[in-house]
Amino acid sequence: MNGFRNFMNGRYGVDQLTLFLLISGMVLTFLANAFDLYAVTMFTFVIFFACIYRVMSKNISSRQAENIKFLKLYNPARAWTVGKYNIIKSSRYYKYFKCPHCKQEIRAPRGRGKISVTCQKCKNKFVQKT
Ligand SMILES: [Zn+2]
Repeated sequence: MNGFRNFMNGRYGVDQLTLFLLISGMVLTFLANAFDLYAVTMFTFVIFFACIYRVMSKNISSRQAENIKFLKLYNPARAWTVGKYNIIKSSRYYKYFKCPHCKQEIRAPRGRGKISVTCQKCKNKFVQKT
């Protein structure tokens, strides 16, 4: 174990981008095998090589910069996905709709009939069926 620790000393290691590449590579490998796509299988080798290269790299500042660029794209995408998932999960109890004036997303409890809604953002008043 000490030999491995010495080997990894000063190397970058695993970060979010490497994990994302690893999981994407595994999913692509599975799909490529399921549909007999030889070119995609070759591409997954490139992805796995990139993972190994990033983990073993001694150029830590470059790897950190790559990870920061990745997170700038990944975090908003993840937040959007989690938001949509929560809407689907709670859509049994809440009705989601947009303000006709400013397009602000609003939610109201279901089964209350026609209700008068005041938009929190632009104070526009409208009637909405729930
Ligand atoms: Zn509004």
